[in-house]
Amino acid sequence: MAVKPILIAPDPRLKRVASAVEKVDDSVRQLITDMFDTLRATGNGVALASTQIGDLRRVVVFDLGEHNPDPSVKMPLAMVNPEITALDDAEWQVVEEGCLSVPNLYMSVERPFKVTVQYLDEQGDKQEITVGGNWLASCIQHEINHLDGILFPEKLSRVQQMRAWKKYQKLRKQGAQINYKVEESDSHIL
Ligand SMILES: [Zn+2]
Repeated sequence: MAVKPILIAPDPRLKRVASAVEKVDDSVRQLITDMFDTLRATGNGVALASTQIGDLRRVVVFDLGEHNPDPSVKMPLAMVNPEITALDDAEWQVVEEGCLSVPNLYMSVERPFKVTVQYLDEQGDKQEITVGGNWLASCIQHEINHLDGILFPEKLSRVQQMRAWKKYQKLRKQGAQINYKVEESDSHIL
């Protein structure tokens, strides 16, 4: 069991763009195991991207457990090189999002309603799922954004984004509690 510390904003490492995995081998499977261990150790986290533990291989994991709104998507779920191949932006949904890397901040984020994602599973086999009309669709977009160095407040309008970071800064200053292992950078400028 390897629980890794989770990087928290404004750590500049969260802004890095991860690279595609060339081959799903044992080291990638070990990363997946570590990510599930890390996710479960948080207590309330439901998904994690590799960049959140400072690894730049494109992997995301989900374990929504009993909260899974879409039983057709089997949990736990690991995706290597996930790629959104279709985004139905005719309809949008608003979901209250939080992030293990932006602890204690919750904001309503509007995202397309339906996504189709292609990825490799733990065996390296190509898979595709379509999820729509529930918060898992937002969750998938949130995680894939991490691999491109994008944190969820950046999906808000400019004004809301400023408000979000201000609120987050205040929470950090107040010493709002974090119940899992984190790694903080020296920089505290948002
Ligand atoms: Zn996140």
